[in-house]
Amino acid sequence: MTKKEELEAQGFKTYENEDIQVFWNPKLCQHIGACVRGNGKVFDVIRRPWVDLSQAPASEIADIIDRCPSKALQYELLNPISIVFEEALDRAAAYDRGKQIGECEYSPSEKMWIISHTGVEPAYEGKGIARKLVLKVIEAARAKGVKIRPLCSYAKKMMSGKEEFQDVM
Ligand code: SF4
Repeated sequence: MTKKEELEAQGFKTYENEDIQVFWNPKLCQHIGACVRGNGKVFDVIRRPWVDLSQAPASEIADIIDRCPSKALQYELLNPISIVFEEALDRAAAYDRGKQIGECEYSPSEKMWIISHTGVEPAYEGKGIARKLVLKVIEAARAKGVKIRPLCSYAKKMMSGKEEFQDVM
């Protein structure tokens, strides 16, 4: 069963384009408005349909949906990109059918990894790949019990002040 089939069986409605599927369940929505405040062009409660995925890149929409407190909004990114943690190279890397198209590199010490660079080839920007790369490094750091210091501008912006990442900072 795909995520779409699973969520639709639970009462979620689906909005989709070639990069992302967005799912919304009105019964779970607490009407707190984090989605509308995130981007009022994508999420407009007056318009029908109220979700317009053409108004922002998939990665931005995914970032906003991550802030939905009730999980009434969920998403699935649709690209055939694999994200791999490569400990021997001190990085997570993104591949499109075997071709490397991005990386998140860090300098390791015993108790801390300093993220020094996150980059994605221009043709692949706006698809949420950079975020997934950083998340992959965070996941590995958590598993090893080390902290992260995000020095590169992307990781810094993504992690700073975010409750979900405080345990590794
Ligand atoms: S952020 Fe989630 S809970 Fe809040 S209004 Fe949007 S869909 Fe509803």
